[in-house]
Amino acid sequence: FSDIVEEARLSARALLDYGEGFFNPTVRLGVTGLSRAGKTVFITALIHGLTRGGRFPVFEPYASGRIARARLEPQPDDAVPRFDYENHVRTLIEERRWPSSTVDISELRLVIDYQRQNGADRTLTIDIVDYPGEWLLDLPLLAKSYEQWSAESLALSREGPRAKLAAPWHAHLASLAAEGRENEQAALTAAKLFTDYLRACRDERFAMSLLPPGRFLMPGNMAGTPALTFAPLDVAADGTAPDGSLWAMMKRRYESYKDVVVRPFFRDHFARLDRQIVLVDALAAFNAGPEALHDLEAALAGILDCFRIGRSTLLSNLFRPRIDRILFAATKADHLHHQSHDRLEAVLRRAVAKATDRAEVAGAAIDVVALAAVRATREAVVTRGRDKLPSILGTPAPGEVANGETFDGETEVATFPGDLPDNPEELFNGGFRGLSSAPSDKADFRFLRFRPPLVARDGAEEPSLPHIRLDRALQFLIGDRLQ
Ligand code: GDP
Repeated sequence: FSDIVEEARLSARALLDYGEGFFNPTVRLGVTGLSRAGKTVFITALIHGLTRGGRFPVFEPYASGRIARARLEPQPDDAVPRFDYENHVRTLIEERRWPSSTVDISELRLVIDYQRQNGADRTLTIDIVDYPGEWLLDLPLLAKSYEQWSAESLALSREGPRAKLAAPWHAHLASLAAEGRENEQAALTAAKLFTDYLRACRDERFAMSLLPPGRFLMPGNMAGTPALTFAPLDVAADGTAPDGSLWAMMKRRYESYKDVVVRPFFRDHFARLDRQIVLVDALAAFNAGPEALHDLEAALAGILDCFRIGRSTLLSNLFRPRIDRILFAATKADHLHHQSHDRLEAVLRRAVAKATDRAEVAGAAIDVVALAAVRATREAVVTRGRDKLPSILGTPAPGEVANGETFDGETEVATFPGDLPDNPEELFNGGFRGLSSAPSDKADFRFLRFRPPLVARDGAEEPSLPHIRLDRALQFLIGDRLQ
């Protein structure tokens, strides 16, 4: 029955959206990616560039002068926080600090006045929806019972390197009797230790795809509620919970999590998206080695799976599926010399291709790009002995340390970031030992965080932010809607 209600709600929503879109063409652009992937920086740079005259030669409607104006309008969804654009720009440009990252969903409305290729004046509304990628990975839970999810999560936590991280939680779990009386304190402790384990996995970059429930790491406004206070128990995947037991309590909360967290998110936000960009911190994964790269691949497959499941189970095929373009973007490409940008793209393309083999995403165009929404570095050739090394120049953030030196946030340094291999296979088959293996890389600055760039002010004009291939991303995501 709840499925029928869900379907009716979805259909009503779709009709409303459809009606509005008829008179007022709108693209709902989802921006997602795991924590620290670069969502906040991406959205801030995109809006700044479009509203303040950024340089976008590959974004055709903009470069050809057909876009007359882009402006912000009040955020239309009353229940969703507005993306804090003005503050983020101030932090980025005036303070030269990175803005605070995404921890919840937020939204912003951008309106573009443009001229069609046939000369007619038109307006396109773009609703940008920023949400944590962790939430997306919750979708598979809808198809799983508490017992199935418990068994799978436990099996995984007993494997290889995860087992060590799970030890404190496992110890507590061993002290619990699933069929014993329900117990709030036991649930609280179990949830806390389980969350600590998930966080440790994320921080160590293991199996990012396999970390639901997403809100445990990114609670948004749900922190501390019973719907987020449960954990797996060691119970049979096909077992039945006795009334009044700890098991029954956990199961009830798991079902609440699906009802109050997962379903509303998919109905109210995810199912309404038209276009999606998935940001990936691929460089961090490369540096962590082949293991992390396979995790990245699994994460991409998991994300693509979500789009596929979203299509087939969220019914109402009359209006859905809606997402017809998905762009995977490797962020922070300014940490590499431009010679490696195409290679970075090739690696991502290879990882996504493997994922698409498994998860058929019929009807959606998929592309990949390596970009830096805000380019914090410049390029230079540094001579070391007989070698001429293609290097990058940037100002490490204050307090960053390398080789015993602590940076003050004012000094610019040249670093040789290393090269990615020509053949992406090397990364996947373990032949590549991380960027750190690059020869002559004595001063290892690869993990340095650079400050945002110093942008020159030209009179009263707001300066534009440098970027790498942000315009290519725009062209793929909305270029066709501005013809
Ligand atoms: P979110 O969690 O996805 O919102 O991630 P953020 O947008 O807050 O980015 C996380 C961090 O990554 C920032 O604080 C920056 O240090 C870094 N970062 C993000 N985008 C860029 C970029 O384009 N260039 C550089 N150099 N660093 C970036």
